[in-house]
Amino acid sequence: MTTSMRSLPGRRPFLTAMMSILALTGLVAGALTAEPRAKDLFGAKKLPAVAAAQSFGFYSKGCFAGGVAIPMDGPTWEVMRPSRNRRWGHPAMIALVEKLSRDAHADGWPGLLIGDISQPRGGPMLTGHASHQIGLDADIWLTPMPSRPLSTRQREEMSATLMVDEKTHLVKDGLWKPMHTRLLKRAASYPEVERILVNPGIKKKLCDTVTGDRSWLRKIRPFWGHDYHFHIRIGCQPGSPNCKGQAATPADDGCGKPLAWWFTEEPWRPNKNPDAPKARDLMTMANLPRQCQTVLDAPAPASAEAATYHGGGVPIAVAAEPVEALPTAPEVPSGAAALPASASAFAPTPEIGIPLPRPRPGN
Ligand SMILES: [Zn+2]
Repeated sequence: MTTSMRSLPGRRPFLTAMMSILALTGLVAGALTAEPRAKDLFGAKKLPAVAAAQSFGFYSKGCFAGGVAIPMDGPTWEVMRPSRNRRWGHPAMIALVEKLSRDAHADGWPGLLIGDISQPRGGPMLTGHASHQIGLDADIWLTPMPSRPLSTRQREEMSATLMVDEKTHLVKDGLWKPMHTRLLKRAASYPEVERILVNPGIKKKLCDTVTGDRSWLRKIRPFWGHDYHFHIRIGCQPGSPNCKGQAATPADDGCGKPLAWWFTEEPWRPNKNPDAPKARDLMTMANLPRQCQTVLDAPAPASAEAATYHGGGVPIAVAAEPVEALPTAPEVPSGAAALPASASAFAPTPEIGIPLPRPRPGN
């Protein structure tokens, strides 16, 4: 810009005027300043914010304080991909995962392989998910825990079993077992669990095979990906007045028309612009609830162990001081509206054709 302005002195007033207009519209700010990305700031945090547990914002646009970790190993679970450091969550989420592991084990599932929960302070992630930002989402593999403990290396490298045929979008014959159904039913049984995201093929399998009580199918929501893991989402927890909840799922089992849409061509059309940046790649702190800056700046515990959950419903060593009481702000600043739309697990199944990008593998 400087060079062209120098070489075209006659146009300077015009350019200056244009600059002012652009600045007024706010377009220049993002393009010319190196505003740090929220994902880099949150992605760099190794430990949680010491404060009373509280979620700020929405599943795909927020952060949380008072995070606790699930231990790397338990009698009925193992944490996968440990180098990602995403075994953190709101204490209610971590307690629920631990409880699910015990209940599922009692149901005959060998144990949970736990995928991503959240970064220590939540926020947008460097890679992968759009959500998982407020400590209330957790991914669980559909592969049962092996009988022999996995080494750290195996946890990093072991590949998951894809349950769904990429072409037909149907569950691969022989892979789906009654114990998978029992596991999802158990996960859906907890009142705090609002949604469970699965591949449409898995939803269809359940729709076609579950007999007796089908009321829990309401919580099982079809979504792209989720063919080797399922995704548990719990609701906003007490003590989080700035947590923005999600609309309730429809009361029916979701096996009718909305599911049929997934077996048309429309949801699987190639993304016309696969390289376009995603919302999480562009967010700055200005796009997040303002309390997230406080969360980012809050002190850390002495170690990960000091904020690791060991059962009993009470995390240890995490102080009960709330993040400084800040005025209740609108959770979504106006700038956020300018972020590009992308496939969203929060939207109802579209009724009309809109191009939706496929999520990256591993989302
Ligand atoms: Zn997930």
